[in-house]
Amino acid sequence: MTSAKAYKDAALAERLSDRYFRPKEDSDPTFTPEVEKIAGTMAHLCFQCGTCTGSCPSAPRSGYRIRNFMRRVNLGMRDVCLNDPDLWLCTTCYTCSDRCPRDLVPTDVIMAMRNIAAKNGIIPKNALGTVTNIYKTGHGVPNSDANRAARVKLGLEPEPETTCKYPEYIPAIQKILEIYGTKQLADKVLGEQ
Ligand code: SF4
Ligand code: SF4
Repeated sequence: MTSAKAYKDAALAERLSDRYFRPKEDSDPTFTPEVEKIAGTMAHLCFQCGTCTGSCPSAPRSGYRIRNFMRRVNLGMRDVCLNDPDLWLCTTCYTCSDRCPRDLVPTDVIMAMRNIAAKNGIIPKNALGTVTNIYKTGHGVPNSDANRAARVKLGLEPEPETTCKYPEYIPAIQKILEIYGTKQLADKVLGEQ
């Protein structure tokens, strides 16, 4: 039989009743559920074991720490998360998601925050340069003469089975980028340089 806990400290009891354990002053209580809804994973179940950071290829090469982002999400630290340039250092390799003992998907937590950041116009210019490449060619990194020569040397056709070979599909890609406003965002931000 369960019994009610009595902490004899009203403030502590109130805080412990909040499953997100947010600091009261600088947190946004809507941030964690918003990120979870987009990511489709229950970030608040993170118990900060650090397996994700220990597996992350970006961690030894930068200050980026996925465990730290998970904690900040759960504290509702919207502005800190969205304005941290490290948000864009995840390679989306999904190793952390493969290894998380809580079966969470930290990669998608990062992707969700990137989506929210981009909607608020917070996005690195080099990411938008990639958008421009995709809009023009269907590729973030377009094919080049050096790459074509390397492909031929390996016995491959110079153009891969993508928009490189079938440029007639580029307008469909352009339409997707226009419908989601990605192209307009790239034009606006890059035009302000
Ligand atoms: S591996 Fe999972 S539970 Fe552990 S810190 Fe990372 S996200 Fe949290
Ligand atoms: S998906 Fe991102 S955060 Fe996760 S291990 Fe790969 S680079 Fe690190």
